[in-house]
Amino acid sequence: MINYHQPLYRPPAEANSIIIQATLGCSYNKCSFCTMYESKNFVIRKLEDVFSDIDKISKYYNDSNKLFLADGDALSLSTEHLIKIIDYAYLKFPKLRRVSLYASAFNLYDKSLDELKLLRSKGLTLIYYGIESGSFDILKKIQKPISNKKMIDGLNKAYEANLKISATVILGLAGKKYSKEHITASANLINQVNITYLSTLQLMLEPHTKQKFIKNFKDEFQELNEKEMLEEQIEFISLLNPLNKVIFRSNHVSNILPLAGTLPKDKNRLLEELSFVIKKIF
Ligand code: SF4
Repeated sequence: MINYHQPLYRPPAEANSIIIQATLGCSYNKCSFCTMYESKNFVIRKLEDVFSDIDKISKYYNDSNKLFLADGDALSLSTEHLIKIIDYAYLKFPKLRRVSLYASAFNLYDKSLDELKLLRSKGLTLIYYGIESGSFDILKKIQKPISNKKMIDGLNKAYEANLKISATVILGLAGKKYSKEHITASANLINQVNITYLSTLQLMLEPHTKQKFIKNFKDEFQELNEKEMLEEQIEFISLLNPLNKVIFRSNHVSNILPLAGTLPKDKNRLLEELSFVIKKIF
C-alpha cells in the first residue's frame, strides 16, 4: 500500500474515497486560524510518484468510484498537470465517477473559465472551498485577504463550468465584536452565488496559534461561548436566501449541534431546532 505524507486531511464526505496526494501541504499556508499544514512545506509531487501511488492503490481498490486529491489545495496545480493525474486515475479506476479536491479562494480565482470547463470535461466534479467569511475586513484580519468580487468571480466560474462547490463558513471567526459584520457579509456572499453544499464549522484555535490570531484583531477578539455560537448560527441561517437549492450540513467535529437540511426548504425547521436547543440547554 502507499505511504501517505502525514498529516493527511480530507473532508468528512470523502470518508469512503480513495485519497491520492497530488501536492503536499498548502500553497498559501498563511491563514492565521489554520494549523493543518504548518508542519509541511508546499510540494508539487512528481507525476511519476503520483502515478505510482495510483498504480499501487488501484491493485486493491480497482472498483472505487470516488477519488479525493489531497493535500490542502490541489487546484493550485497547473491545469495541464492536474489533467494528467485525473486522466490516469480514470484509466486505473474504471468505475470512477467523482473526483474532488480542496481549493483556496485564490486558486479558484486564478483559473480561467476555459480551464475549469476543461477540468470538468476530464472528470473533476467537486471542489471544497473555504469561504470562511464574506467580510473582506475579517478576511484581512485572518490573513486570507481576498475580496468579495474575486470570490464571487471564482464561484460563478465554477458554476458556469458545471463544477459542484462545497463551501464552508466558520462560526465564531470574528469573535463577539465583529460577529454581526461577519455573519451578514457571509450570508450576503452566499446569496449571490450558486453552490451545491454549504457547511458551517466552529472556530477551533490551537493554543500555540491563539495569541497570533488574536493579535491581528488588535486584541479586540473575544471568543464566542457555545450559546453565542448557536445564536450566530441562527442569525446566519435566517439571512440565507440562496439562488438555488443548497444542501446544508453542520456535521464537522467542531460543531456542538449537528444540523442537516436543504435550503431554503428546511430553513424554518433548522431555526426551530436551534432555538429549541438554546432554550433547553442554556
Ligand atoms: S488556504 Fe486553506 S489549507 Fe491553506 S492555510 Fe488557508 S485555510 Fe489552511
